[in-house]
Amino acid sequence: MKKVEDYVRSIPDFPEKGIIFRDITSVIQDPEGLKLAIDGIQNLLKDVDFDVVVGPESRGFIFGVPIAYNNHTGFVPVRKKGKLPCETISEEYALEYGTATIEIHKDAIQPGQKVVIVDDLIATGGTTEAAIHMIERLGGEVVKVVFLMELEGLKGRERLKDYDVDAVIKYP
Ligand code: IMP
Repeated sequence: MKKVEDYVRSIPDFPEKGIIFRDITSVIQDPEGLKLAIDGIQNLLKDVDFDVVVGPESRGFIFGVPIAYNNHTGFVPVRKKGKLPCETISEEYALEYGTATIEIHKDAIQPGQKVVIVDDLIATGGTTEAAIHMIERLGGEVVKVVFLMELEGLKGRERLKDYDVDAVIKYP
């Protein structure tokens, strides 16, 4: 019986030398891999009460939408700058080289809503931290953050130490 991690393809030296890229296309293109991934994320949320799922572009959409559908909540996309058509708030965060900006629609989260963030992978936690800031600026409460994969060596969990963070697959 295969486990979800058996479907992840690890690509050495992509996108640059020294990085092992954890590829989820091999997970989601397989019916059993896709089911194990979504069920694994869902299982980490079984005792969590939440109103809405937020997923960062673009792999957060892939895993976030089925979770929202399963739990009969809405789904809110966090997108790269300039993609959302209505009024947004934004957050800039540091990358290894330079910065990135992400945005969310201002009317997407209501004050007091309980929010779950779903994404494919946590590395440094910078993307998630920026998403949390935006959700909190809109008055939402982040009750849990769930990833398919965690790169433990990059210590993203420490950066998010005030939050309930979990991952289906943990790479040391
Ligand atoms: P962080 O902001 O440093 O936690 O980086 C997380 C983001 O980088 C996620 O949204 C991932 O999609 C992407 N990322 C970083 N490393 C990998 C990888 O090995 N495989 C897939 N995505 C990655």
